[in-house]
Amino acid sequence: MNHTVRVRYAPSPTGEPHLGNIRTALFNWLYARGQGGSFIVRVEDTDQERLVPGALNSILDALLWLGLDWDEGPTDDGKGNKGAFGPYFQSQRLPLYHQHTERLVASGSAYRCFCSSARLDAIRRAQQQQKLPPGYDRLCRDMPEDERRRRLDSGEPSVVRFRVPLEGATTVHDIVRGEVTWENRLLDDFIILKSDTFPTYHLASVVDDHVMQISHVMRAEEWLPSTPRHLMLYYALGWAPPKFAHLPMILGADRSKLSKRHGATSVLEYRTQGFLPDALLNFLTLLGWSLDDKTDVISRADLVRHFSLDRITKAAAIFNAEKLTWMNGVYVRAMSPQALAEQMLPFLERQEADGGLPNDIPMPLDRSYLLRIVPLVQERLKLLSESAELTGFFFQEHLAYDASLLVQKGMDAAATANALRQSSQRLAALSSWDTATLEALFRPLADELGIKTGQLFGAVRVAVTGRTATPPLFQTMEALGKERCMARIALAIDSLKP
Ligand code: GLU
Repeated sequence: MNHTVRVRYAPSPTGEPHLGNIRTALFNWLYARGQGGSFIVRVEDTDQERLVPGALNSILDALLWLGLDWDEGPTDDGKGNKGAFGPYFQSQRLPLYHQHTERLVASGSAYRCFCSSARLDAIRRAQQQQKLPPGYDRLCRDMPEDERRRRLDSGEPSVVRFRVPLEGATTVHDIVRGEVTWENRLLDDFIILKSDTFPTYHLASVVDDHVMQISHVMRAEEWLPSTPRHLMLYYALGWAPPKFAHLPMILGADRSKLSKRHGATSVLEYRTQGFLPDALLNFLTLLGWSLDDKTDVISRADLVRHFSLDRITKAAAIFNAEKLTWMNGVYVRAMSPQALAEQMLPFLERQEADGGLPNDIPMPLDRSYLLRIVPLVQERLKLLSESAELTGFFFQEHLAYDASLLVQKGMDAAATANALRQSSQRLAALSSWDTATLEALFRPLADELGIKTGQLFGAVRVAVTGRTATPPLFQTMEALGKERCMARIALAIDSLKP
């Protein structure tokens, strides 16, 4: 027996990399990495009408951003194939599906169906009217061989359908959901090959999972009803099915299916909003899996080490956007200032209209200056997209603020200007510029001026930052440097002139 774990993520390139979809990729990846197996990406592009240009690249981009590397599948640019079981695009594997369709027809497990879409529509309408379950009425199932041959030879369009047994039942042994049984008579003769000679999802998925030696099929719960059909195909083709694990749905806080209403649904939007890949990865893993029902923050390495199929939950997972933002803050605070600075740079250097720093700030930014700033904002930063908002005043040449902000409660413009002038004179005389020196200068100065420290610090804070709320004042001044602080205080004094 072959115990090698081979799992796959099988996206259809029909849209954005949705959170739920990427959660499926993630669980497969975690299992492969934890078990020393292989993670395969297979592109299910058989529904030619639903293909969306660029969708595959967005999906691969999302995987790469989250660090979900694949051993086999399309190349990173989505143009080629890598791996020994390729090609990994179903549209490039048509001969294989035709070969197995012929086997199924030859053994009597499948048959040609010539029913037109007009006829199928009429059946559907009649079934609706009579409140019957929808399904094909099996008109072509027992067509005489000579008629079949004649219609096929005349070029009449046809599909191939699977001959579902009319009796008995099919049981799926699902790792998450346990045993689920379907009565065969409730399943209709589903199509396996379409009239455009492309396979349907059912056939292509079964053939590929077998040929690619997939050991475990882990996919969204919505595919569970397809699984009895897949089992019938495995049995008819004489193959042993893989193991199945259907992952719970992801719902919004209102328990409806996750949608735009609950926030961004595309993983790439989370990147734009400034989430860290490790934080999103941690968060997504907890949508349907838990380590011990209580631990929230788990490193990537620990997730790989501990991920197990038996702790996948049966109940739907609830998406909690606030928890994701909180978790991102946890990851931001745990980073080294260097690593955080690297992550913040693209957010700071992008266009102002996209949330970057004001356009008049010279780019590229001074890296060593940024490194002095980062520790001051690290505590407060939850999303990388807040970088410009939190650090802008450090970089701006001219602070734009209302001079009235300088005047603290219980003071007037003249007293404020005086306090700033005194501050400026003492600061000018300093030979070193660090938090402790600045603090030692300002505390007694308030006393000397006969004002409260809060009043003095408040005026100086606005003068050097243009804001009333900032990181700790003296650390901020240390990071800003003497030259900037002196120039800003001088401008503040000017702005207070009557
Ligand atoms: N192509 C299907 C999807 O987009 C894959 C289903 C499966 O994993 O079998 O979800």
